Amino acid sequence: MRIAVLVKQVPATDSVKIDEKTGTMVREGVEAELNPLDLHAVEAALRIRECRSEGATEITAITMGPPQAKKAAAYAVSMGCDSGVLLSDKRFGGSDTLATSRTLAKALKKLGPFDIILAGERATDGETGQVGPAVAEFLRIPALTYVSSIDELDEGHITVTRSVEGGHEKMKAPIPAMVIPVKEMNIPRLCTLGGKLRAKKTEIPVLNADDLALDEDLTGLKGSATLVVNVTYPQMTREGRKILSSAGTKDAVKAIVDLLEEKNCLEAAR
Ligand SMILES: Cc1cc2nc3c(=O)[nH]c(=O)nc-3n(C[C@H](O)[C@H](O)[C@H](O)COP(=O)(O)OP(=O)(O)OC[C@H]3O[C@@H](n4cnc5c(N)ncnc54)[C@H](O)[C@@H]3O)c2cc1C
Repeated sequence: MRIAVLVKQVPATDSVKIDEKTGTMVREGVEAELNPLDLHAVEAALRIRECRSEGATEITAITMGPPQAKKAAAYAVSMGCDSGVLLSDKRFGGSDTLATSRTLAKALKKLGPFDIILAGERATDGETGQVGPAVAEFLRIPALTYVSSIDELDEGHITVTRSVEGGHEKMKAPIPAMVIPVKEMNIPRLCTLGGKLRAKKTEIPVLNADDLALDEDLTGLKGSATLVVNVTYPQMTREGRKILSSAGTKDAVKAIVDLLEEKNCLEAAR
């Protein structure tokens, strides 16, 4: 069985900055990490392999990004994936979710066939959650989203439990299939020293648009259906009001209570 895991390198910060002129993400000077939700996808792949006989399952981590994104694939290898691949090319730059998904799907076709493809629920920078399902659509395979457990997997089918509003849903689909776990599915393992050493020795091949036979018009800015035309930040203002206890504690407390009442804060607390 062959499994692919899509992993994305993201800024290791919650405050993603967007260049107001170009509408693109500012990546310079920002520490990067493997998208935290992708760790659950990697863990799911490793657990599938552990449930099967030795040597019967091979896991490849695939990432698309600038040259430094190689680290994301290497991290997945240090967790236990067998190999990693980086898709990197200036022509991929500026890809929106459509172009990203199309490029990833092209790579999966070239490197495949894969029986199971795993992706994170969403990336902590772009946060659209569109890439996994869109890749499945390009590959014309079922997408199992919000998966909280993989219950059965044989050569032809996968049965999963999905977390849905107000409960759980069991779903069976033919494979190949895209599986997108929720973070409650598992606790991702930490990399061992052995894993880190293995990752250091594992070469991460880099594929470009030519390797994928991907037309320039189908990837990057040219292949994107959407374009950021304007980015603005909400203006945060703080309206301060000073209540001085020097006027007398009783009056100050009353003033605070009146203020909370005016803002409907006390009603909510009652
Ligand atoms: C209109 C628009 C314009 C944009 N322009 C730019 C731009 O000019 N420059 C720029 O840097 N970014 C740009 N982006 C962001 C870029 O499109 C997204 O980072 C990318 O498409 C992935 O989307 P996401 O981050 O929302 O991922 P999600 O859909 O939230 O990710 C879900 C999962 O898909 C997988 N995945 C997602 N992206 C990758 C990847 N690259 N490699 C491997 N797996 C992946 C991961 O498993 C991830 O957990 C733009 C986004 C939009 C919407």
